[in-house]
Amino acid sequence: MEYLSRIPQMRQFSAKACQDGTRLGLVPTMGALHEGHLSLVRRARKECDLVVVSIFVNSAQFGPQEDFRKYPRNVDQDLKILRDLRVTAVYVPDADDMYPLGFNTWIEPGAIATQFEGASRPNHFRGIDTVILKLFNQVRPQVAYFGRKDFQQQVIIRRMVRDLDLDVEIITCPIVREKDGLALSSRNVYLTGEDRCAARVLSRSLWRAEELVENGERDTEKIVEEVRKVFAAEPRTALDYAKIADLETLEPVSLLRSNVVALVAAYIGSTRLIDNTILHVS
Ligand code: AMP
Repeated sequence: MEYLSRIPQMRQFSAKACQDGTRLGLVPTMGALHEGHLSLVRRARKECDLVVVSIFVNSAQFGPQEDFRKYPRNVDQDLKILRDLRVTAVYVPDADDMYPLGFNTWIEPGAIATQFEGASRPNHFRGIDTVILKLFNQVRPQVAYFGRKDFQQQVIIRRMVRDLDLDVEIITCPIVREKDGLALSSRNVYLTGEDRCAARVLSRSLWRAEELVENGERDTEKIVEEVRKVFAAEPRTALDYAKIADLETLEPVSLLRSNVVALVAAYIGSTRLIDNTILHVS
């Protein structure tokens, strides 16, 4: 496995690798790797000739009061895991290279990024689109892998790719969960004891939504109301939002006629977690 940390090094690697039409897959991550990340890497390994995993804790997507400083970092362990998975290269760019002094050019994703996560985390998606575009320019992948765990993120990245004519295929992979339903997240390490137990409320609330739809409920207001009730019964949690939206536009939906996504975000103690599920309307 090659270890790359400088932009010219990265460019040289992909220029050499891709001369003969090789399919290069990129898996962008912020490290502290877990099985969710690894599911993306395994999928990339299956579908690509070469796989580059990037590890970069992107300051630009964190708000001033958020956990950028304490975000879990464990590059040595990550490298070992990625070596075992036989990825071709790991790219760990330097913060000063990524955002050099005077950096002042941003990708603004527009209205789609001002709701849900964007409403609670102003500039979050501006930071994400900007770093992802930079990574695409540095790594030059044919295909990039994202998790459905961050549903709004992959919608916004797909939109950027379309709007800016980027020549990258976007693949979205299913959510990997703990046995009890909690979606894997690097932030789960913040959860201890009773909070870890309470965190099950996110997936439980989504199962309730699925159950209602299976039983024929089509009124999204009623479904959201039931989701709220699940959270209300768990005192250690504070619901940030529960929404049902169109899969591609993220527009609100009032009556279910086709598949939609149900999204929740909540604080468990001081830890903010997100989750979502597709509601299948047969
Ligand atoms: P992060 O390191 O949190 O930026 O995540 C890197 C990528 O892994 C993103 O595309 C996430 O959506 C994806 N990811 C994170 N958690 C999971 C999970 N539980 N299942 C599937 N993909 C995930």
